[in-house]
Amino acid sequence: MPSSRTPAWILPSLLAVTVTAALVAVPGAGGAAAPSSAVPVAAEQDGPGPDTAEQSKTAQGRAVQGEPGTTKPRPDARDVVLAVHGGAGAALDRETTTPAREKAYRDGLARALRAGQKVLDRRGTSLDAVEAAVKVLEDDPLFNAGKGAVFTADASHELDASVMRGSDLAAGAVAGVRNLRNPVEGARLVMEKSRHVMLSGEGADDFGQQHGLATVTQDYYWTQARWDALIRAKETASGSKTAAKTPEALADEQSKGTVGAVALDGRGDLAAATSTGGLTNKLPGRIGDSPVIGAGTYAKNGTLAASATGAGEVFIRGAATSTISNLMEFARLPLASAAYEVLVKRLPALGGDGGVIALGPNGDFDAPHSSPGMLHGYLTEDGAVVTKVFPDESPANT
Ligand code: ASP
Repeated sequence: MPSSRTPAWILPSLLAVTVTAALVAVPGAGGAAAPSSAVPVAAEQDGPGPDTAEQSKTAQGRAVQGEPGTTKPRPDARDVVLAVHGGAGAALDRETTTPAREKAYRDGLARALRAGQKVLDRRGTSLDAVEAAVKVLEDDPLFNAGKGAVFTADASHELDASVMRGSDLAAGAVAGVRNLRNPVEGARLVMEKSRHVMLSGEGADDFGQQHGLATVTQDYYWTQARWDALIRAKETASGSKTAAKTPEALADEQSKGTVGAVALDGRGDLAAATSTGGLTNKLPGRIGDSPVIGAGTYAKNGTLAASATGAGEVFIRGAATSTISNLMEFARLPLASAAYEVLVKRLPALGGDGGVIALGPNGDFDAPHSSPGMLHGYLTEDGAVVTKVFPDESPANT
């Protein structure tokens, strides 16, 4: 049932969802409008174009292609300075994703990379770069963070975010915020302007507002696609007929949409950031791994910067990102082996899947995932942007 904090505007709709379980999604209702003109597939990619294995090799010269079917001990790419993800899940399905939709996702990832690149190019810090990149993804309604965040079970939005700096292990996080336009800014603020690492709920919202962060009302986060996803989740939970899915809804469902970034700056400092609306139909008050340092986010110079996405409870229980770092530091595993060990071998055994973007101090980059796909992209030292949105661009478990 709606909590006392559920905004009045949502109540009629929520009642309709819970009482009328046979509601179906509105045909054609999707999230953000796709660009009106048809566009070439992957036209937003700078440099290498669509990231097939062949093109990656020739255009970048730096992507590392593993042998098909071999166990994964190697990084995906080298000389990476910034990487972002847009969530684990099925990623996008080649059969059902329109070129315009594909372009929208690739553009979103590329825009975030370019925003971070601007920071790095003017000798900004890796922390500034990951914040800038995540902010762009939070403002993009396609992704489940900031605008476009998923709905809780009581049809509201509660957002989580965190940042971490590898040079001194400084970290900040906000959990369950309901009014910050860009939760990643709140996380940075907690890190820099409070004596704490994590603030939650109203305290976090108030802290952000007092320090001048932009605030919004709950309706700002609303998108049709996330609303439809809530309706479907409630119908599934109640056992009623599953609603017909629009291609847009399908794409949003296939990609769960949490966002994150990792960066390496000219000083050799690593940083990571993660932001999410969490899981559709989550219980109000539920907090996932994204704001938990060592679970959803971790950065330590000398090992790696990592941002995770997937089944948050499992990433918390498995201390996902800090375990990768510990395997590198204490068991001397290389980045790709440590990330593979945690993501592919350990976490699925705990009952959940997902992925991580991981960047080492030498520019080695890896994006292992146990989910069928993970939207992500990276920027190399020489300015090439690569985006991966289809599962066959980054097969799981390899
Ligand atoms: N890890 C996020 C959470 O559990 C969800 C996701 O990455 O899709 O809140």
